[in-house]
Amino acid sequence: MLADAYKSDGLPRFLSANSLCELALRKLITREYEKNLILESQMTIDNVWDFLEAAATENLFAGFGGIPIDELRFNAETFSAPGMSVDQTDQLVMRLMQLPVCTKSTNETKVAFVHEILAFYLLARSLVRGLEARPDFFASSMDNASLLARRMLLQLVSELIAARSVKDRLWTLLAATFLPEAAFRTILQIAILADPGELPKPIRERQLSNKNLAGLRFQRLNLQETRFDNSDLTNVEFQECDLRNSSFNGCIIQNTHFDLQGHDMTGVKFGDYFSVYSVKLGTHYFDEPNRAAEAIADFIKEEKLLTSPCPTALQMRFLLSKFIRPNGGFRRDSIDLRGFLHGKRFPGAANNLDLLNALCSRGYLNQYARPNPGVSRAGGRFLSEMTAFVTDLKLAEELKATLDEKCPRSECEHVPRSEV
Ligand SMILES: [Zn+2]
Repeated sequence: MLADAYKSDGLPRFLSANSLCELALRKLITREYEKNLILESQMTIDNVWDFLEAAATENLFAGFGGIPIDELRFNAETFSAPGMSVDQTDQLVMRLMQLPVCTKSTNETKVAFVHEILAFYLLARSLVRGLEARPDFFASSMDNASLLARRMLLQLVSELIAARSVKDRLWTLLAATFLPEAAFRTILQIAILADPGELPKPIRERQLSNKNLAGLRFQRLNLQETRFDNSDLTNVEFQECDLRNSSFNGCIIQNTHFDLQGHDMTGVKFGDYFSVYSVKLGTHYFDEPNRAAEAIADFIKEEKLLTSPCPTALQMRFLLSKFIRPNGGFRRDSIDLRGFLHGKRFPGAANNLDLLNALCSRGYLNQYARPNPGVSRAGGRFLSEMTAFVTDLKLAEELKATLDEKCPRSECEHVPRSEV
């Protein structure tokens, strides 16, 4: 359909994605009027646009699972000419649901958009208008963890924002308002797409530390002297960015991709490297914590001697991370025994069953037999000690005693601290 629109009008060859979508939709809608399927006296063309944008917004709130027919009917009544009879309204609603952009779900309770890109385009229009009129509403619409993966939508939104020169509103939102985690991430990603080049200095200095930035993609940006300290950089990608003199102290580096040259990271600090789990440097992937830490130190030519946790400490952290996430969030309360014992083995570490028994005898974990053999975690002080260990490798007295008892290395410090 887009290709047809493209061919027939002899358009300039480099239209933005938004312009292409607009063109395609305009053709579709105009055709409905030409065929008298919708009458201008019942709903104006402008109002059909409003109706479709409202539907696309409902679709967002419905988790992109289709719009309930009741909602559509309500919107149709809102945007149609006043004084229509019930029959006329019914007929209009039917016509609107038969627009070639819509399709009914198999059980006929919902309507979905046929083309994802047109749904995203309509949503993008509505969102950007929201950003102009009601930034708080825009921010709350962005508080949806699934948006970051919908790159096409973010691309369309950022293109519209750039075209309307309202980029500054994004930076204002990011700097001033309290934003929920997912909203902050999504808005930051849109801002990066809309305004490539350089993040404003106050954002780099103050807004990117102690944040959950998981899944963000930083591309072609000047990020010199940025403070990422204590942020979660799981699945974050840095591509062609200048990161010189930035700090990553205490960051969770897990499946993080630095797709750049070592000299782009001159002067970068990673602190004690204790929350490095895995990393991709250029095309090389390092999936073991100590090796990943060494590879980073080597990449940025850090000269200090790295201290590495012993294999048993890493093994214990791995086992506890079945309950607690690297960022301190809770993963689960209990797990079946097989699942607990299964997975990564650090060469030279004490065995999992020994560690389990030791952690149970000190009250951190409990084993149970029914309904199926499993392991659960304790709460209170035990939980906060385990959390500090998983997130920061902090060793409370009893946890250290557990390692002293089980670590096969003689006189092992387990988690040697270096001068940072
Ligand atoms: Zn040890």
